[in-house]
Amino acid sequence: MAEERILIVEDEEKIARFVELELLHEGYRADKAADGRTGLAMAESGKYDLMLLDVMLPGLSGTEVLRRLRKTSQMPVILLTARDGVMDRVSGLDLGADDYITKPFFIEELLARIRAALRKKGRGEAVSDVKRLGKLSLSEARHEVTYDGHPVELTGKEFALLDYLLCNQGIVLSRDVLLDKVWGYGYMGETNVVDVYIRYLRAKIDDVYHVKLIHTVRGVGYVLREDHG
Ligand code: CA
Repeated sequence: MAEERILIVEDEEKIARFVELELLHEGYRADKAADGRTGLAMAESGKYDLMLLDVMLPGLSGTEVLRRLRKTSQMPVILLTARDGVMDRVSGLDLGADDYITKPFFIEELLARIRAALRKKGRGEAVSDVKRLGKLSLSEARHEVTYDGHPVELTGKEFALLDYLLCNQGIVLSRDVLLDKVWGYGYMGETNVVDVYIRYLRAKIDDVYHVKLIHTVRGVGYVLREDHG
């Protein structure tokens, strides 16, 4: 039985009620909001797996709800648009809607879109790209590095270098390998660039959190591992 929670933001009570009953019948859990502000607040609670969002709403339009929501959340959103709402659909997809459906719609089609959006979300979680070493974690999708929950601000190259080190943690990597993998074969700059960026990473992680993750292997290169000694 599906246990996903779906938020219906729709001011037309008849449509909202009809969709709610169908969703409950399919085994989803469902809640309703009848205006944009309430819908946004509910969506931002993080309790929902997917939102059905009407575009023409009192208070805050559906596109405005989506624009604000996308600052903090990537939850799947399916827009409910009017037949002549071409611009709504275009701007909705630009703003990060996952899909849209034109009213009036067949409930089977809406259910199929919901299943597809939830599957997409599920796959995203299944292939979670978070790499960890101790309290250090890196997400390529979110382009985010944290240490013990604290954000670590890295430049693009620092991020790429740390990403490669994390993928190969415990393995000693030579400067040449790091240069090829992170800077690319065509790199023509200074050969000590690897050492420079290792220093940057140490300054932002090892030094700040008083740990030793990036180790120098004299005459060989570098290795990322937790120091248990
Ligand atoms: Ca409406």
